[in-house]
Amino acid sequence: MPVSLPLGMQTRSEFPIFANNARMGVEGRTQPLVYLDSAVSAQKPRAVINAMSHFLEHDYGSVHRGAYGLSVRASQAYEEVRERVARFLGPSVSASRIIFTRGTTESLNMLASGLSQTIVDAGARIVVPLMEHHANMVPWQQAALRTECELAYIPMVGKAGEALCLDIEKARKLISRNTRVVSLAHVGNVLGQVNPVKEITALAKAVGALVVLDCAQSMTCFDDDPFSWGVDALAFSAHKLYGPSGIGVLALSPALLESLPPFLFGGGMISNVTLEGSEWAGGPARFEAGTPPIVEAVGLGAALTWLEEKGRKAIHAHSARLATRFREGLQSIKGIEVYSPETGEETIVAFRHEALHAHDLATLLDGSNVAMRAGHHCAWPLVRFLGVDALLRASFAAYSDVDDVDIALDAIKRARLG
Ligand code: PMP
Repeated sequence: MPVSLPLGMQTRSEFPIFANNARMGVEGRTQPLVYLDSAVSAQKPRAVINAMSHFLEHDYGSVHRGAYGLSVRASQAYEEVRERVARFLGPSVSASRIIFTRGTTESLNMLASGLSQTIVDAGARIVVPLMEHHANMVPWQQAALRTECELAYIPMVGKAGEALCLDIEKARKLISRNTRVVSLAHVGNVLGQVNPVKEITALAKAVGALVVLDCAQSMTCFDDDPFSWGVDALAFSAHKLYGPSGIGVLALSPALLESLPPFLFGGGMISNVTLEGSEWAGGPARFEAGTPPIVEAVGLGAALTWLEEKGRKAIHAHSARLATRFREGLQSIKGIEVYSPETGEETIVAFRHEALHAHDLATLLDGSNVAMRAGHHCAWPLVRFLGVDALLRASFAAYSDVDDVDIALDAIKRARLG
């Protein structure tokens, strides 16, 4: 087994993207790639790239469709990853509760669509925080339109840049007897705040509502089992976990696995088809119509192994330390406003300059080979609530290093002088 390298610069040597993306600066100095956009998608270690290309070169076949060796081997590999994901989520989670999807967005759409056919009806309420990513808002808006139920938003409370968080008192009022679903992110994708999931789950459970957890931003850092808190469904994407794009997970409680209707229809999700109608397969197969993301599943399995070798807690502590250093550096730059809370847990820092538009600053940073996202971050209601039209967001990961922080801060300072 390869030795697990320390986080930061040494771990970066496992990621070919960095060696392939250094640039020559104007003064003939090499500009390393400073990748501060891991919250949008993480880069991939060689372990993941190799696992996928090895599978393609040696073992590729379609799954659950052939009696021949390649198909049997591919099916075994695919199902082993389902077991791998279950172990990753916690000892109480069985593989039969793991559904492979295209990503968090598809997982949440699957839930919103299915629940609007079962437990959500006119007179019901769905509760979602205002700060959610569009992927955890728009599907619920559509479910509310279809069923004519109420969609209520948990507002934010506190001062931006210090302690902006979900308004738990308002949540207490909104989560009431007619609430059927509460859907929230574990970690916010814009501000990086860690939401009080246990508290919100307890409120939802007290009124018999289902809890859906969007773990797109939290799976790299937290190794708790959200099902042990009473969560009923959770979703995440492989590409934010150092794995490939094109695959994600929807994990369900046993009761939800039984009751949720299928989302897509076709091959692989049926137990019988006649000209008169069809019957659905049981377990996760019911939700996996069509040829699934087979190579991507292999990559996801390799990514989870890589991640666990590094340790999610260690990655969290490392990334949060760098975020704190970056935030402290920003505070000494005139005109910068920071929006993320300051608890020391955040691995994301959202900020803007009072005079220089976020998009312009991001373009200037690219001139120094610093990759940082600017915009509304797929969370328009939150960005509007903050009273801005765009924010910059620096996000830190296992391969981020102190050098990245210092280069980015220096580039921001120079952008202001230029
Ligand atoms: N929820 C959150 C909190 C996210 O950060 C993202 C990705 N930015 C999504 C959902 C959507 O994930 P994907 O694009 O992988 O479906």
